[in-house]
Amino acid sequence: MLPVSLKLDFPILGQSVNGKPLVYLDNAATSQNPSAVIEASRRYYEEINSNIHRGTHYLARAATEAHENARNTIAAHIGAATPNEVIFTSGCTDAINLVANIISLNPGDEILISTLEHHSNIVPWQMLAERTGAKITVIPCDEDGVLDQAAFKSLLTEKTKILAVTWVSNAFGTVNPVREMVAAAKANGTITLVDAAQAVPHLAIDVQALGADFLAFSGHKTYAPTGIGILWGRLELLEQLPPWRGGGEMIKEVTFEGTTYNAPPFKYEAGTPNIEGGIALAAAFDYMNAIGISKIHDHEEALMRAAAESLGEIPGIRLYGPVDRIGALSFALEGVHHYDLGTLIDQMGVAVRTGHHCCQPLMARFGITGTTRASFAFYNTLEDIDSLTTAVKKAATMLL
Ligand code: PLP
Repeated sequence: MLPVSLKLDFPILGQSVNGKPLVYLDNAATSQNPSAVIEASRRYYEEINSNIHRGTHYLARAATEAHENARNTIAAHIGAATPNEVIFTSGCTDAINLVANIISLNPGDEILISTLEHHSNIVPWQMLAERTGAKITVIPCDEDGVLDQAAFKSLLTEKTKILAVTWVSNAFGTVNPVREMVAAAKANGTITLVDAAQAVPHLAIDVQALGADFLAFSGHKTYAPTGIGILWGRLELLEQLPPWRGGGEMIKEVTFEGTTYNAPPFKYEAGTPNIEGGIALAAAFDYMNAIGISKIHDHEEALMRAAAESLGEIPGIRLYGPVDRIGALSFALEGVHHYDLGTLIDQMGVAVRTGHHCCQPLMARFGITGTTRASFAFYNTLEDIDSLTTAVKKAATMLL
C-alpha cells in the first residue's frame, strides 16, 4: 500500500464536511489536485501568463515554451510517436466531438460502440450518424457488465467504419480488452477511438502498444484542473483529415479568397487554448510518475478488493461490474433509492456519486435508473473504505 501521508499532498482532503473528516470517493467524476499541480497553475499566473505562439516579448516566449514542454511531457507519458500527435482540448468530451466532426461517413456505414459507454462516447457518434445517414451498432454486455466479445466480432463487419469504445467503464469499473478489440478493428480497416478518461488515472498508457487511431481523456480525472483534455491521434491520420473549428492558430495563411491550414497539432487547436491547464496536466503526470504508475495501480487494486469485500457483506447489497474492476464500484441497496443512500452517506462525510453516471443506456440494460458509486484514487486509504462501509451500514439501518 502507498503511505497514508500521501493525502497531505492534497490540501482539499484536509477539510471536514458535515463535521466529519472528508472521505472523498468521487474520483471518477473529478479527482483532486496535489499541491505540485496547484503550484504549477499558480506559478503560471504569477510568473508567465501570456498568450502563446504569437508574441515576441519575454512572457509570450516563456508561456509558449512551458506550453510546448507540457505537450512533450504528456506525449512521453502516453507513448506518442511525436508531440505533434497530442492535441489540447477542453476535455474528453471535446476530444471525442473533434473526431466525430472530422470523419466523413456514407449512408449505411456503421459506428460500433458499446453498452458501457459514457454519453460523451455515444451522442457525438449519434450526431455524426444523423448528419451522414450512418448507423450506430452496440456491443452488448453480460450481467457482470463485461462486453460480449463474440457479439463484438460478429458486429464488426465491412460496414463498420468506426469503433469507439471505452477502456474502463466509469459506471462499473469494467476494464475492456481494448488492445485486442482495436487489433480486430484495425484488421477490418476500421478507425478506432479509445475513450481513456477512466484509464489514464489508473493505468500505464502506451498508445503505440494499444494500436488505436485516437485516444481521448480529461485532465480533471487525472489530478489536474478542469477545462483541459487531450486528443491523441495517429499523425498520418491527423495530417489527412480536415480541420474542425476555424480560427487563429490553426491556419498557415488566410486571405479573403481562402485559407491554408497549419500542420497538426495546431490544425486542431483553433483559438487560445487552456495554457495553464496543459502545464498543470503535465505537472500531474510528473507527480504520478514520481509515485510510480504500477504502485498506484497495486494500491488501488487493494482498495477495490477491500471495498468489494466489506460492502459485499452488507445484507441486501448488489455490486455491479466484474470482480477485476478498477476505479469505480457501483452498488445498490435493495429497497433504497440511490439518491437517498448518497445523501445520507454525505451527511457522514463520505462523498460518493449517485445517479446514472452519464450512462443511461447501461442503466437501462440493467433495468435501473442509477446506482451509488464509490470511485477511488491512489490517495484513498483502507480507512476511507472503512468509513464508506460504516456509513452504508448506518444508512441501511436508517432507511430500511
Ligand atoms: N468518458 C468517460 C468514460 C467518462 O467517465 C467521462 C466523464 O465522466 C467522460 C468521457 C467525459 O469527460 P469530460 O466530462 O471530462 O469531458
